[in-house]
Amino acid sequence: MGAWNGPGESAGAVAPPIFQTSLFAKPSFDAFVRQQAAEHEHFVYSRGTNPTVAFLEERLSLLEGGEAAKCFASGMGAISAVLTGLLRSGDHVLFVNTIYGPTLELAEHLRRFGIEHTVLADPGEDIEEHIRENTALIYVESPGTMLMRVLDLRSLTAVARHHGIRTVMDNTWSTPLFQKPISSGIDLVVHSCTKYIGGHSDVIGGAVIGSRAAITEIFYTGYQLLGAVMSALEASMILRGLRTLPVRMEEHQRNAERVINHLASHPEVVAVHHPYADHALDENIISAQFSGFSGLLSFDLRNGTFERVRRFIDSLSLFRIGASWGGYESLVTSPMRPGNAAQLRSNGLAPGLIRLSVGLEGAERQIEDLDKAFDSLPKL
Ligand SMILES: *Cc1c(COP(=O)(O)O)cnc(C)c1O
Repeated sequence: MGAWNGPGESAGAVAPPIFQTSLFAKPSFDAFVRQQAAEHEHFVYSRGTNPTVAFLEERLSLLEGGEAAKCFASGMGAISAVLTGLLRSGDHVLFVNTIYGPTLELAEHLRRFGIEHTVLADPGEDIEEHIRENTALIYVESPGTMLMRVLDLRSLTAVARHHGIRTVMDNTWSTPLFQKPISSGIDLVVHSCTKYIGGHSDVIGGAVIGSRAAITEIFYTGYQLLGAVMSALEASMILRGLRTLPVRMEEHQRNAERVINHLASHPEVVAVHHPYADHALDENIISAQFSGFSGLLSFDLRNGTFERVRRFIDSLSLFRIGASWGGYESLVTSPMRPGNAAQLRSNGLAPGLIRLSVGLEGAERQIEDLDKAFDSLPKL
């Protein structure tokens, strides 16, 4: 489509130029009419396509092994576009595994438009039993981002294919570097680029990758009409993040392994949740699906009352308290609130669950900080 094609173009720029323009003028009215009729493949207006954004889309599509990609103003923008773009009134969606909270809130919202859903939070359940005649989409996360449980994608996509159901996977946890769900038969992959792909906690963005036909369908409905479009400036920041993704992910992984080993042997820790710590995981699934593990993990604090969770979190200083993950800085959060222990249990989460995003400060400093917080807990 004439996106920026690399060094040599644009006066030899080595970094992708930021095409800070809302529209692209055409040499003749004929050209304008022709290109506007196929806006997904021509630069007409930046609510449709833009060369900087298109360059990022090409890179993401190549990384995931898809045919095409579309970038959005946020991960939720991408997820909204997929769900509203592909579903219609009367359809049913099956969500499998622990799903990102706002995605399920969106699914609740879609009930008003006659779209139903079921959530199978336990990845061990038999999916086939929950498939209905009107099931149009199976939407999964693997690993989920609270308990980091892994799905057997090849079995899941085989079942979906057998029933003629499309599959979507949120691959934010792994990034396209460590897991390529399309190679396991997933139809569409979504990302929050806000996390590891951007990688510096300074940009919000999202993406969808899949077949050219599906991406074109999403372009004309969920992208252009809902309007959560990515700007050229955001695309250039995410491209910068992408350039260091391999070195950052290796380092997140290295730090996370050391933190996990430390947590797993700590007397105040009941369980650590991360594929690296899950010794029951099938080696064949791991080797088929992953080439590495990211640095988002959680653990269950022993005797996990709200008071102890608060004490632990407030005693950390390197790990900052915050909602996101995937950036330089280590972060900590917990779903615990005063009096919600029973509710957490009914959602399959242990009271005392603490989630860590292991950043890039180095494992030694991270472990030192965690030990300081463990030491602050009153001895039983
Ligand atoms: C953050 C996140 C999203 C949403 O992304 P935004 O960029 O915040 O809109 C979706 N899925 C997962 C797993 C996330 O962590």
